[in-house]
This record gives sequence, structure tokens and C-alpha cells, in this order.
Amino acid sequence: MSNTFRPVDWIDSQAQRMLELVERWANINSASDNVYGLGQMATALADTFRPLGGQMKLIELAPRQIIDSSGQVAQKPLGRALSIIKRPDAPLRVFLGIHMDTVYRLDHPFQTTERLDASTLRGPGVADAKSGIVVMLIALEALERSNVADLIGWEVLINPDEEIGSPGSTPLLIQCAKRNHLGFVFEPTLADGSLVGQRKGSGSFTIVVRGRSAHAGREFHLGSNAITAMAQLITELDGLNGRFEGLTINIACVEGGGPLNIVPDLAICRLNVRHVDVQQEVTVQSKIDEVVRQLGEYNGIRAEWHGGFTAPPKPLDETTRRLLEHVADCGRELGVDVTWRSTGGVCDGNRLTEAGLPNVDTMGARGGDIHSPNEYLLIDSLTERAKLTALLLMKLASGQVTWSRD
Ligand SMILES: [Zn+2]
Repeated sequence: MSNTFRPVDWIDSQAQRMLELVERWANINSASDNVYGLGQMATALADTFRPLGGQMKLIELAPRQIIDSSGQVAQKPLGRALSIIKRPDAPLRVFLGIHMDTVYRLDHPFQTTERLDASTLRGPGVADAKSGIVVMLIALEALERSNVADLIGWEVLINPDEEIGSPGSTPLLIQCAKRNHLGFVFEPTLADGSLVGQRKGSGSFTIVVRGRSAHAGREFHLGSNAITAMAQLITELDGLNGRFEGLTINIACVEGGGPLNIVPDLAICRLNVRHVDVQQEVTVQSKIDEVVRQLGEYNGIRAEWHGGFTAPPKPLDETTRRLLEHVADCGRELGVDVTWRSTGGVCDGNRLTEAGLPNVDTMGARGGDIHSPNEYLLIDSLTERAKLTALLLMKLASGQVTWSRD
């Protein structure tokens, strides 16, 4: 093998450091709404990535809009995103990204890592996606140690809001998509080790129904019950499940009501849609419009909806397939079997594809039970996956793998 690829073998010497970095970063709580913890994460990441060189920036994100439990629109601050751009004038430019936030809030019991055995680390975000950050870091370090690094430019974006749909960082992702030729996102591979080819899209909606309160004993007839009105609306929306191939509507959260002697005047419902094509977006959107309008025709009831579709479906098109084939070729060279399949999960890969950037979005480590207190990482996959990315980056740089956008 030519000495071009010796830096890939260097990754073996980093196994212990990779594991320690995952542990250190997973032990920092960086829930999407923990702005302080996200700040600590961003600082730790900036310190570790700085030796790679390039232009580094911490970017403020606009606050996200939420509907609070009184049904009012409110603003919530987000953490900052870390951006690094190196050799932006290179003829071939690669985007590498992953999120620093996790789903485990500060009041969640799952806060620290634990080595279950020599091959398994359990902890919050160890697979999704603190290990992905480490894989990306080490792959870039290997590239920068190689003699082909100068032939390729790269851009890193580590965002703080992916687990809540990237409300603040989507504009940054769109800019990254425009500036680069191809992309890698370091979400964990699926539990069986396969990559994701095709992904569903996602939309999140909040519906607010307001009625009229009244004393339940004396003046029940003067009240308009927001909860029973909402119940009808929920039944109608839930009725879409099973009617369209691949479309699901998850009624996720319902709030409202209070003392038993008051007709409730407020109900809030939060729901998530997963869909496979644009037609299904139209179907769901028009159904929501329709049921909200119909409720408004009841005496004393007002209904409104907020939110929308935040990630389009990610199809497995020819360009994505070609990129997956390149990953699989590198896998073969390293003795790693690379396959792919589809999932209902959504990630920033969906958003990059929509913005025109071909990408493979599961270049992170292997693990499982993500978003649960049993989340685990298979430790050996750290070096395996870093080598996979490093080898592909070096082949792209040296021209052994050629890439044109279409
Ligand atoms: Zn993730």
C-alpha cells in the first residue's frame, strides 16, 4: 500500500484517546435546552479541534419559537454552533457535521457513562452523537497528517439543536450545502451496523384549542369545553394513520384542564408527522387546516395551529447511492462490511439533501438503544469508523475517488 494511507493506520494508536474523549464529552450534559451545558461542550470542542487549524467560529443562533403551556408563543434560547473552515479555495470541498446536543435533560436520571465491559460503553449520547464527533475529529486529524491534505478543503459544523429539529442551525446547514461538494454526517450507524440510505421526512405541529370556562355545577351550559373539542380533533388526525403508505401521525402530548368543577377553556396538543413524499405533506397540512377550521365553527371554540414540516424526506437517489458505494469500497479495503437500509428517523442529512448536498449521514460509531437510558457504544467501532472516513477523505483528496456533483 502506498504511504498515502499510513495515516489511516495511525488511528489505531488513538483508540484510548478516542474512548476517553467520548467519556469526557458524554459526561457533560448538553441537552438541547441546556444552554449552559452546550456552552461547556462548545468550549471543550473548540479546544480539541483547534490544533486542526482552519478558521474557527462560535456562531449565535436565533432563539426558537415554542408554544408554552398557556398556549402562547414564546422564545427559547439555543446554544452556539461551532464552525471550522479549512482550505475553502480547494477544488474539492467536503462538509462534515454532527450535533453536540442530546435528548437527556438535566433532570433525567441518565447523566454519566459506565464501561459495561471491554467492548461496551453505556452513557447519555455515547452513540448519538458524542462518539460521532470523536470519529469526525480523528478522521480529520489523520487526513491532516497525510501528504494529500492540501488537495482537499473541508468544513465542520457542530450544531446544538439537532435533537429538536435544528430550528436555529438550518440556515447554517443550507449555507454549508452551497459551499461544499459532498457531505458526511456522523450520526450513529443503525444497531446492526448498517448505514442509512433513505429517510422519511418529519413535521411537528402544536394545536391550541380555546373554549370558554364556566362553573361545572351552576353554569355548565355556558361553558365550551376545549378538551372535548380537542378530543374530536385528535380522533380525526389519528384517523390518517394506516391510510397512506409510510405516513404516521404521533399524537405525542396533550395538555389542558384543571379543577374538576371548571369547564376547561384550554387544550394543547403536540404531534409529530413522518412522511415519505411531498404529497403526504399536502395531505396532512390540509387535514390540519380542515379540522382546525371545523372546530372554529363550534360555539365558543377557537382553534389555531403552529409549526410545520421541518425536514423533507431523504430519497436514495443515484448520487447518494454512488456516494454510499464509495463508502462501501473503502469499507472493503478495511475489512468492514458496509450495507445500508431505510429508516423513519430524520437527521440533518435530510436538510442537507434538500439544500442540494449529496451526503451519507451515518458515518458515526456503532451503538444502540439511543434516546434511552440503555444507550451504548461499541468501543471498537470508534477506530473502525474513523478509518473509514479518513480513507475516503484521502482517496477523494488524491483523486483515487473522483467526485463530481452530478
Ligand atoms: Zn443524532
